[in-house]
Amino acid sequence: MWIDSLGRDELIVEHQRQSANYTALLDAALALNLTRGKPSPEQLDLANGLLSLPGEDYRDPEGTDCRNYGGIKGLPALRAIFGELLHVPTDNIIAAGNASLEIMHDLIVFSLLKGTQDSPRPWSQDPGVKFLCPSPGYDRHFAICEQYGIEMIPVPMREDGPDMHRVAELVASDPSIRGMWAIPNYSNPTGAVYSEDVVRELVSMPAAAPDFRLFWDNAYAVHPLVGEPAPVWDVLGMAAEAGNPDRPYVFASTSKITFAGAGVGFFASSAANLEWYLGLVGKKTIGPDKVNQLRHLKFFGDADGVRAHMERHRELLAPKFRAVIEILEDRLGANKAASWTTPDGGYFISVDVAGGTAKRVIDLAAEAGIALTAAGSAYPYKDDPTDSNIRLAPSYPSLGELRTAMDGVATCIVLAATEKALA
Ligand code: PLP
Repeated sequence: MWIDSLGRDELIVEHQRQSANYTALLDAALALNLTRGKPSPEQLDLANGLLSLPGEDYRDPEGTDCRNYGGIKGLPALRAIFGELLHVPTDNIIAAGNASLEIMHDLIVFSLLKGTQDSPRPWSQDPGVKFLCPSPGYDRHFAICEQYGIEMIPVPMREDGPDMHRVAELVASDPSIRGMWAIPNYSNPTGAVYSEDVVRELVSMPAAAPDFRLFWDNAYAVHPLVGEPAPVWDVLGMAAEAGNPDRPYVFASTSKITFAGAGVGFFASSAANLEWYLGLVGKKTIGPDKVNQLRHLKFFGDADGVRAHMERHRELLAPKFRAVIEILEDRLGANKAASWTTPDGGYFISVDVAGGTAKRVIDLAAEAGIALTAAGSAYPYKDDPTDSNIRLAPSYPSLGELRTAMDGVATCIVLAATEKALA
């Protein structure tokens, strides 16, 4: 880091300079928020056509009256569209309520209470259930594990997926490891995309637990920020080929496609896993909101309709990501006060500041009216071992607000680094 190369006098000058910048930032009395990855109002507007659908015609192409009970698997025509996008046969995907997170949560609760369809007994009857957690990762995945007492083992995240040497070694040797979280496309928060080699190894590696599951959360499968989208691997097919057809649980939703609070969630897996899941979920609901599913079906028409819609999201999102990267480069590129990811898709940018200063940066920013995601959020138990990671969510603020906020964040990053070096 550049700071390390400064003599004490130079460091004092730099610290004074950044302190003056910070005072000016405080004087600006900002109220900006870079915390959660929510679509902006302009992105939500793209799907306003949904508000007047399905109109008077309440039947799906199969003739189902969507107003009534039933149809626990969801509308076949909508499942076909998302099956195509996720590279999953229609028979292997179900359309559910608005939140894929709810399905992930239920799968864990069902497994603890009943065991998976191939578990020797409920997970809760075995001591110390564990999950692998590629980190940094998605805080809400980790929150589910924490809620139900599942021990989380962090595994370093790389550019092409988790550290496979570590994953394979742990999964092969410890039968209490029953699952792993994975965000294969444009991971939250680094934007990493799992490579084909990593996917193949994950589905084929030996597991000590007979019922080991990959929680394959493809929340950003169709969310590129560049012209050429990353491939969506046929993880179910690859797992079947490798002799582990029941290993992946695939999730997706339209939360970051249509309305984040009123979209459709999807779950795809082997026939045996779906049968087990539907048997359990059929006790908590008589069927999903098919009118909402029909609305989505009519709005998109087909998979190309989804792709075209995502292109319009890209036009709104890509300039925001570019602005963040530009400001980071401009303010922190030469002084090397931080490093960051440059995602080709998804919703987040992951920044690593000087070790031991992430909390301080976030506090400084908060004082200046810029809300950043809490320190450590992207790690199991909110414990970032080097206190260096900050997750940025550029989607929600306007471009102007984003630029102002990022310039302020850059000031906080350099100020915290000089403070630490002088301490
Ligand atoms: N999975 C990931 C990786 C996410 O980043 C998010 C939202 O930020 C979700 C799932 C939430 O999905 P849903 O709205 O379908 O519950």
